[in-house]
Amino acid sequence: SAIQNKIAAGEVVERPSSVVKELAENSIDAHATQVEVFIEESGMKQIRIVDNGDGIHHTDGPLLFQRHATSKIDTDYDLFQIRSLGFRGEALASIGAVAKVTVETKHTAGNPVFIRFEGGNLVEQIPGKERQGTDITITDLFFNTPARLKYMRSMRTESGKIIDIIQRMALANPGISFRLVLDGQEKIMTKGNGNLKEVISDIYGLNVARHAVEIEAHDADFDIRGYAIRPEINRSNRNYLNISVNRRFIKNFMLSQSIVNAYHTLLPKDKYPIVVIDIKMDPKLVDVNVHPSKIEVRFSKERELNKLLESAVSSHIKDEML
Ligand code: ADP
Ligand code: MG
Repeated sequence: SAIQNKIAAGEVVERPSSVVKELAENSIDAHATQVEVFIEESGMKQIRIVDNGDGIHHTDGPLLFQRHATSKIDTDYDLFQIRSLGFRGEALASIGAVAKVTVETKHTAGNPVFIRFEGGNLVEQIPGKERQGTDITITDLFFNTPARLKYMRSMRTESGKIIDIIQRMALANPGISFRLVLDGQEKIMTKGNGNLKEVISDIYGLNVARHAVEIEAHDADFDIRGYAIRPEINRSNRNYLNISVNRRFIKNFMLSQSIVNAYHTLLPKDKYPIVVIDIKMDPKLVDVNVHPSKIEVRFSKERELNKLLESAVSSHIKDEML
């Protein structure tokens, strides 16, 4: 129901930046190699995401904003084998309930369509442009909720969060080109050529990339790869610890702490390192259902993973300093 959708919207898409995250994740799930994000007024006026992914089949279009309209889970078994970023079929339904939405899309095996929704209901469907991929525009986010006023007051914070999300996604997906434009100004642009060091340069600058040390470690369960920046280049907070699991960026206090520990004695107490790490593992070892935002995760074999990460980072960084 409309009310149900509004309630759930408060969890899944609690703010403009979480809308951006959900939409960009859908583009990644659709195998896009290019994701462009255009934001106006911190997302309150408009959020537009253009990708070159698989597209949505025209017969699925009308159902897009219905709850649990997901193409990503076929059986209960799939729930334990989550590889794609989305899997609940809740994001679009939640967004649709609190905004005006247009979707222009062409599926590999379908006709191009342009669809317009209001309050989650289809109000128009006409033929669209012959362009492979999906172009979603969200306008007047939260127009029918009290949350609107709250975010109108904190637009600067929200823009910062949007930049943070696209940065982390780009660092976790060097094979995808990301572009972020805020109020007509390009803030992020990565090439998508698969070279992580270049992404680090595009996001943090050449001086950071020049100090990047390659990290590699694996055991039977985990395969850790990425770069750690030499301690002489550091930051005053933990926001530069980029950890992704199977290319999904995550937050996990223990893993962050393992990285900080690896730099122990190399950095002053009030300084933190810059690190970009992806960990490959069987999805069965990760629980992403801790929080609807899917950012907080838990691991089985957590202790082994923390140990492996700490020793990998500290040995590579110390080797480099000899
Ligand atoms: P979920 O990602 O959990 O499946 P969403 O509500 O985010 O649920 O999306 C619903 C469905 O819409 C997806 O399963 C997918 O089939 C389709 N979809 C949404 N965005 C895109 C996109 N950019 N490209 C292709 N398909 C998409
Ligand atoms: Mg999704």
